[in-house]
Amino acid sequence: MKSHTHYLWFNTKQRQEVIDITDEVAAQVAQSGVLEGFALVSAMHITASVFVNDHESGLWGDILKWLEETVAPWDPPRYRHNDTGEDNAAAHLRSLTIGHEVIVPITNGKLDLGTWQRVFYGEWDGQRRKRVIIKVVGE
Ligand code: ZN
Repeated sequence: MKSHTHYLWFNTKQRQEVIDITDEVAAQVAQSGVLEGFALVSAMHITASVFVNDHESGLWGDILKWLEETVAPWDPPRYRHNDTGEDNAAAHLRSLTIGHEVIVPITNGKLDLGTWQRVFYGEWDGQRRKRVIIKVVGE
């Protein structure tokens, strides 16, 4: 079995951002030499997400709006976590809602995604250095 590990680093301009990382994941699959297997893509933080969805900027805005208005408004006084002096409880809840990792199948040496599927990093508390692990395993 082959195994290949790579880290992507982020330091977003906005506190919340959605970033398409599909090409970076595909490049690591190519580098791994794995023809049949899986790529695990996982945010190494408790206030970020990795998810699969559509490369469409209107939808990214919808996701951010949905998280802000329906899931977890950025309203520090409303959360107990922020009694510790932090203000990012909403980012933790957004990470839980969207999820922190995905596993993408590899077939014939390529990411085997559906037609409209792309892999995204969701930053919910950015403007500082954070990272994602990509682990490719297979044969
Ligand atoms: Zn926190």
